[in-house]
Amino acid sequence: MRVDVVTIFPDYLAPLELSLVGKARRAGVLDVRVHDLREWADDRHRTVDDTPYGGGAGMVMKPDVWGEALDDVVASGTATPDDGAATPDDGVATPDDGRRPRLVVPTPSGRRFDQACAHEFAAEPWLVFACGRYEGIDERFVDDAANRIPVTEVSIGDYVLNGGEVAALVVVEAVARLLPGVVGNPDSLVEESHGVDGLLEYPVYTKPPSWRGLDVPDVLLSGHHGKVARWRRDEALRRTAQRRPDLIDRIDPERLDAHDRAV
Ligand code: SAM
Repeated sequence: MRVDVVTIFPDYLAPLELSLVGKARRAGVLDVRVHDLREWADDRHRTVDDTPYGGGAGMVMKPDVWGEALDDVVASGTATPDDGAATPDDGVATPDDGRRPRLVVPTPSGRRFDQACAHEFAAEPWLVFACGRYEGIDERFVDDAANRIPVTEVSIGDYVLNGGEVAALVVVEAVARLLPGVVGNPDSLVEESHGVDGLLEYPVYTKPPSWRGLDVPDVLLSGHHGKVARWRRDEALRRTAQRRPDLIDRIDPERLDAHDRAV
């Protein structure tokens, strides 16, 4: 998968060099290119914002600068000014010629990002993130982009961040771990919270068996796979009902039954 991130703070995306995402980049599973929006500003001050029509506080990011940046990223299919990340010569997988990216625009007024959305994005060959700042990006940027490529505006929660960079990091990490080969043991993805059965994950424990007067539940030490599976399912249900009753309403009983029959 290719991921382009356009931002006025390229350094904000440095964590994409680390951990599993960084490893996926080095392994060629993920081709991440970070672009400085100011490369597309055409004045001496590299201006990317202006005062809002209609008045009010703050500044709005200019559609013309964003539009040109997106045009170049889409048209190139290769790196434009970037942070020295992967280039086509690096031998990293790139989208087939003619494939269009999906534009992902982080905004508090977007679709709430969740695991279902992460799966949808993970099926795309190419994502381009447009990280807003200030009061956001002039609405015409998204309207114009949507005439040419698929666009999703996403919110990572009901709160307001200073910019879209942290949201892009969240989305890239959630998506990248769904790509084949990124998480070392794919079984880790099966019983996770917000997984196929819609439950939160059961509590997990490791050694030592007793710590500060707190014991690991006996059943987990029993070696009885059936009982462990039953306990985990019960705990997942209990935890979900306690912490996220809204998720219980969305559970498909057929899936739960199928899972329990398989145990
Ligand atoms: N004036 C905007 C509003 O009230 O909707 C908020 C702008 S916010 C200060 C600046 C940028 O941060 C946004 O353009 C967006 O890119 C990002 N952002 C803030 N909160 C976000 C959230 N919950 N999810 C995704 N992106 C967010």
